[in-house]
Amino acid sequence: MDCSDCGFEVSADVQKLLGEVESAFGRDIPLRRLDPGHRFYRYGGTTKLNADDVAILCGGSWSLYDLAHELLHLKRYCSGIPLAVFNNPQMLQLWTSKVENYLEHHAIFPALAEMQTGVDPYRSDDEQAALRSFRDLCEGTGGDPRDRRINIALAAWQVHLTKKDKALLREYDEAARKSDKKAHEMSRTLLETVEEHGIKTASAKATVLQNVRRTLALPWRGPLEQIVPTGSPKGPWFTRRTFGKL
Ligand SMILES: [Zn+2]
Repeated sequence: MDCSDCGFEVSADVQKLLGEVESAFGRDIPLRRLDPGHRFYRYGGTTKLNADDVAILCGGSWSLYDLAHELLHLKRYCSGIPLAVFNNPQMLQLWTSKVENYLEHHAIFPALAEMQTGVDPYRSDDEQAALRSFRDLCEGTGGDPRDRRINIALAAWQVHLTKKDKALLREYDEAARKSDKKAHEMSRTLLETVEEHGIKTASAKATVLQNVRRTLALPWRGPLEQIVPTGSPKGPWFTRRTFGKL
């Protein structure tokens, strides 16, 4: 990646991180601008991670924070942190956009907070709007009622993984407990498994993913896969290796 294409000055620590990820893949990571009509444009940035195409895609509010954020995701994946693989659209929605995202953000936020990008990852979104929609979910006026319990448990868990404001955490816990005791208990169990095992290593993350699936009583089972960079400047960026089962 040519840092001069970023549109902002890339700090030394983020340049070092970029160097580590590019050397794992054995080639430059391209930076592409998203079209304003693209569904991810409203995000600062996102990562494309296909075996034949790895890239960082930048949206409307692209910043140094987004570059560091996407690179930290890529660094975890290139170092063999496993992901669950499946082709069921409902699981894709639940697992990729929620469980994986929450856990990976929990994993990268400490390093991201240290990089001084000008944004505190623990305070990077509209917390009051998120709390309002969580309360709507708890009161049964938002979300699909069939998945309500799982959604309450996941949202109450997520806030503990990605926020530090104790008063905010208490508000989520109280809303969850008042609405559905069982959902609140599930969120505690999910948090305990992360606290017990951590998610720093491939095997710790696999254990946590297995426990999450069990706690949520999800009927779906599938393989966990690691990304193995080929390290070659040509051909596929990586191969996949099975790393246990969910
Ligand atoms: Zn992210």
